[in-house]
Amino acid sequence: MEEKANTWGYVSDAEMLGIRLNDEHCVPPLIKTQKEKHLESSDDRFKRRAIGYWPDTSPTVNIRSLNRRHPTEEGLTPQNRFRRWHLSVTLLCEQSWCEMKMVLGLLKPLVKQNEMKNPEVKAGTTIHLKRQLEVHDIVPIQAHTREDREAIKLLNVMSMMSLLEEGQCVREFPVLGVLEGMFFLGVIDELSYSTEGELVLSELKTRKENSLPGKAQAKGHDLQVGLYKLLFDGMVNGTVKRSDIIRHLKLQPKRVLGTAVLNHAGSMGIEEATFGGLADLVLKRLSSSKVGTIQHLKLEYIHQDSGTTIDRRYVRCEEDVLRGELRDYLAFWRGQREPRGVDIEEAWKCRLCPFQQSCQWGKDSAAAGAAEACVNVDPDSK
Ligand code: SF4
Repeated sequence: MEEKANTWGYVSDAEMLGIRLNDEHCVPPLIKTQKEKHLESSDDRFKRRAIGYWPDTSPTVNIRSLNRRHPTEEGLTPQNRFRRWHLSVTLLCEQSWCEMKMVLGLLKPLVKQNEMKNPEVKAGTTIHLKRQLEVHDIVPIQAHTREDREAIKLLNVMSMMSLLEEGQCVREFPVLGVLEGMFFLGVIDELSYSTEGELVLSELKTRKENSLPGKAQAKGHDLQVGLYKLLFDGMVNGTVKRSDIIRHLKLQPKRVLGTAVLNHAGSMGIEEATFGGLADLVLKRLSSSKVGTIQHLKLEYIHQDSGTTIDRRYVRCEEDVLRGELRDYLAFWRGQREPRGVDIEEAWKCRLCPFQQSCQWGKDSAAAGAAEACVNVDPDSK
């Protein structure tokens, strides 16, 4: 059945806030840098990349040259080809919608950028920001290096763990860790406790239609909350290693943090001066925390126009199934298979797709769908 909702419905509203700044890095929820504030106002992704949000340390990435190349050329795996030394949960959810669309979005960032200007996406971002401000103050902190930016996220984790230990609700909790050999980053919308004292992950989804999403979108939502759970549980179980963070995010552990970051850390009673020292401290704090693993995964759907809750849905996380699914998605990134378009029964997605004219897979599936429709015509009905 065709879904009317736009194809960005799988993007967490929390991550929408992040996407405005950087489609790979979690954005510090409590503390934003002066640079990020500037970028938010500029709303210009190219400018964002030009000043260094790209995972490469190189400040400028030649998007044009990337556009001219084919994903499989020069024998590079997509991970190397697109310089994805780590992945975001959001990107994986895009992949679950249509792998080919995700690839074309990376090759043609302007098309994707225009899609993100969709009023539905903007409305979702506004609603989410409002919710975030209900529980957090945003404190601007100047960051000069990538280590500074990552340190701010770690400081956010520290402060939110304290709130969780007090039984409070936190929003936009940054998560990170290695799953099936790949380093992931993400942002959990909300963590709170049920009346029984169980830790509940809630993911807010805003919708233009006053109805629940169809199966295809719901699949991406389930994947998203499942991955968040695996990442969060790994953090509190002590499976995240300092060397993973340093290696995958290409950071310098001995680099001394900027004055503003150090001052903020000092106000929290933290005296570590280097990124490596802070990472050690935060990982130790996580693994010794009283906060346990996530017990429930909840999706909350909000109607954008009225602001009312459409419904809440609980998701069961079957780790083996989830990891199997993840390995299949990662096989593409590792160059073990070609990117896939949508299945024939989901060819309706192609009609919503901005790449429809340039995607051969979409054209083929549309033609196959039309042929199938002809075969299925009942001759007696003519
Ligand atoms: S046209 Fe269809 S197969 Fe091609 S990228 Fe878009 S949704 Fe995927």
